Amino acid sequence: MEISSKKLLNELFSNGISRSLLSLADLIRKQKVGNYVYFRGLIEISNVCQKNCYYCGLRKDNKNVKRYTLTEDEVVELALLIYKKGIKSLALQSGEMENEAFFEKLLRIIRKIKEKTKKIDIQNGEEPKGAGITGSFGELEREHYEELFKAGVHRYLLRIETSKRELYEKLHPSDHSFEKRLKCLKWLKEIGYQVGTGVIIGIPGQTYEDLVNDLLFFKDFDIDMIGMGPYIEHRDTPIFCWYKDLITSNGFYKKVFELSIKMIAFARILLEDVNIVASTALQSVPGCENALELGIKAGANVVMPVFTPYSERKNYRIYEGKKNLTPEEMSQRIKKAGYEPVWDKWGDPLHFFKRNKMSNS
Ligand code: SAM
Ligand code: SF4
Repeated sequence: MEISSKKLLNELFSNGISRSLLSLADLIRKQKVGNYVYFRGLIEISNVCQKNCYYCGLRKDNKNVKRYTLTEDEVVELALLIYKKGIKSLALQSGEMENEAFFEKLLRIIRKIKEKTKKIDIQNGEEPKGAGITGSFGELEREHYEELFKAGVHRYLLRIETSKRELYEKLHPSDHSFEKRLKCLKWLKEIGYQVGTGVIIGIPGQTYEDLVNDLLFFKDFDIDMIGMGPYIEHRDTPIFCWYKDLITSNGFYKKVFELSIKMIAFARILLEDVNIVASTALQSVPGCENALELGIKAGANVVMPVFTPYSERKNYRIYEGKKNLTPEEMSQRIKKAGYEPVWDKWGDPLHFFKRNKMSNS
């Protein structure tokens, strides 16, 4: 649906979340992607990271993090547990590590997951499709994206973080490159991935105009999936230290939360048939208990319950106060809100098939 930038700006500026915005987003959602909410079982494979994003608790220079990397067997076993539970799509995530040993391990993990989940399908008398796999391992070289794709990762999530180059440069040290980020997103598309991107909403230094331009960036880039979410503080990061007064001021998170819900609604209205995640960060904004329901009402159609082993969850601390609802709790709340939780389908973004003129069979 066409909607003017001025209208978007006015809505973002206004206080509160208007009912008419949510109703329009919900109408478009039901027409274009239905009432469904697809599940991805999330495994956070490693919190080791070579990058130093100024907002993230996993940044390389944060010495207060206990670093971990799951073993190959641990990841494969978790993946099988998720699959046998009935959740047919997985999301594998880690800090960024452009390192041959880690990369080879990732390939082995993905091949094993595909092979073993296909066997389960055959035992169940089903078509051997295996698990749907979303990867999110940051910026890699093109050949690495190609190899991951061949091994069985068919969706990739790489947030642009902000589409405004100057802000990107303020949020990252000078060895990070906005150009490389864009290049990676282009490669992913050329290789044939279902491509997801997104931004951090409400991060200090961002303007309403920036958010409108982020939405236009998603549209221009013809993105298939959106994984955006609110900024949440992490005390061991430069952004928190620089903007402490603003971040801890009254009403900061109320505003960030409202903006996040509005961004989901605008994305649904503008982009119609893409997949949109109700992110864990959205569900973790301090003081917002009904975030999951509101995110879905605004147009989100994907959730990613965390399956990382309990012993390591506390160490994958991107921001403070991360909430982890179980898939059962999520399903219950989704049903209560009037939507249909879907565990046993890949739930690929319809937009991907439209832009490739393919049928989703
Ligand atoms: N390392 C990979 C990457 O950066 O693409 C994947 C994992 S990274 C932890 C996933 C996302 O976490 C990033 O894209 C970033 O937007 C988000 N993130 C990091 N710090 C955050 C914060 N303080 N608040 C909200 N989101 C944050
Ligand atoms: Fe590393 Fe990703 Fe965090 Fe940046 S956002 S520091 S790349 S884990």
